[in-house]
Amino acid sequence: MPGLPLIIGVLLLSLISPFSHARGDGGPPAPGGMLGSSPSIASHARGDFTVAIDVGHSPDSGGALSARNRLEYSYNLKMAWTLLRELKKESRIRPLIINPQKDEISLKQRVVLINRAGPDFLISIHHDSVQPLYLSEWSYKGTRAAYCDKYRGYSLFISQKNAQAGLSRSYAIAIGNQLRTSGFFPSAHHAEKIKGEGRELLDAEAGVYRYDDLVVLKESRCPAVLLECGIIKNRAEELLARNPAYRGRLARAIRSAVRSLMDNRLTPNPVEDRS
Ligand SMILES: [Zn+2]
Repeated sequence: MPGLPLIIGVLLLSLISPFSHARGDGGPPAPGGMLGSSPSIASHARGDFTVAIDVGHSPDSGGALSARNRLEYSYNLKMAWTLLRELKKESRIRPLIINPQKDEISLKQRVVLINRAGPDFLISIHHDSVQPLYLSEWSYKGTRAAYCDKYRGYSLFISQKNAQAGLSRSYAIAIGNQLRTSGFFPSAHHAEKIKGEGRELLDAEAGVYRYDDLVVLKESRCPAVLLECGIIKNRAEELLARNPAYRGRLARAIRSAVRSLMDNRLTPNPVEDRS
């Protein structure tokens, strides 16, 4: 049974942050990352760079099923909190997680939360799947599961309908280049000319695709990038996604890229390429 100080603490948190009152157990105790609806006003005044981390999907709508029948959402959640902790090490970066209390929200509601937070940059964290024709079956712990070991690697997406499409593209390429430098490899499978894929590769080296109608990317007012961290239908890559050291390495690469974004921001040279 919680003691009185804890109850008072929870009440206080509820009063100061609309995101804190109902947070579940998925994240570490990092109240600094649970900024509420207006973190950017103060942070912009100090010249900080606010990064919103969107956790793809939700508990009841968990996204892709992994090769071991785990929901993508659980991986997204772990990676988002790993990234939050990593970005907090950078004094100039103010990271926050969108919907940390794990509410079931629509994509439109998600966009409202993002735009209300007013970040300088949005990164939406996901884990990838493949088209059904590439799936095989195996038995994992006595249960049938679908997997695909043919593809692996990360993918980055941007929307050219985003209000800051040129910056979104530049940011995605910067992240992709840093991921390459850090030893990660992009997957080209979204460019394949088959049903459900056929995405335009904007930068094959960096692994950046164009996906204009992804709602979160299209309707966020800040530069926005979606990162598929890896393919959890791949049995080996799923094990990596479960590995805290691997997630930490990925987060450090993203932090390094965000640092370069901030420095480039001092001499902005975005390519405005809305179409
Ligand atoms: Zn997803």
